[in-house]
Amino acid sequence: MKIRAKGVKIVVCLSLVMVLGVGGYAAKQMVKYDVHDTTRPNPPVMTPPEQVGQPPSDAIKLFDGSKDTLDLEWLSEKGGGEVKWIVENGYMQVAPKAGGIRTKRPFGNCQLHVEWCAPEGVDPKITDQKRSNSGVILMDRYEVQVLDSYTEKNYDDNRTYADGQAAAIYGQHPPMVNACRKPGQWQSYDISFMQPLFDEGGNLVRKGRITVLHNGVIVHNNLEIEGTTAHKRKAAYKPHDGGTGYIHVQDHGNPLKFRNIWIRELPEEPYLIK
Ligand code: MG
Repeated sequence: MKIRAKGVKIVVCLSLVMVLGVGGYAAKQMVKYDVHDTTRPNPPVMTPPEQVGQPPSDAIKLFDGSKDTLDLEWLSEKGGGEVKWIVENGYMQVAPKAGGIRTKRPFGNCQLHVEWCAPEGVDPKITDQKRSNSGVILMDRYEVQVLDSYTEKNYDDNRTYADGQAAAIYGQHPPMVNACRKPGQWQSYDISFMQPLFDEGGNLVRKGRITVLHNGVIVHNNLEIEGTTAHKRKAAYKPHDGGTGYIHVQDHGNPLKFRNIWIRELPEEPYLIK
């Protein structure tokens, strides 16, 4: 079978699909939920540790706090030119009507570190998806939600649908726990991502997979992504070439801050078996 991955054709046998595509079978009855199902329980709240990650020597520094790295590595989704976000004090901040941003280089399989901070002093009546929304999007399609999901009252003070809260694979999977810090505090995502693979006919051969640590806590563990992120409908895959999608940071109209964004490209080869 020929598979497209980052511009090269890789020949693998069906056992790859067997190894990577078949999950375990749960013995107990599993409850299934609709997209954005409000009866779906929110994850338990817990307290994360304080450490955040610095880039290792082989990482690409996508944003190190300087306007130079922002200009070098990112462009505006609005018109494709210079990013008009605020850059100060080692962070960048979503600016009104500036639009989202995306990397200039494409990335497929990767380890990605992003730090973000939700604004303090937001009116407590502003909740749900309006409460400091942004997102980190892989390959133009797959969103890890950024939202202020910090709660001191088991979500009575700040609730949204579980598959749309912070660190959710938006519209698909809630995080296993809510590791959110308070607004005004810096938080981190450490993401390990394996791109989906399609054969030459555009058929899905392997779903994308993702592991996410929120503030150092695993909230998704080698999880299958169900398809392109969608709102109020079930995600599905559309074929795309490997290595041709970009990383985006979403402008959802809220002044979130971001800093210390770095990435390591991960090879496909170690996971292919003959
Ligand atoms: Mg979002």
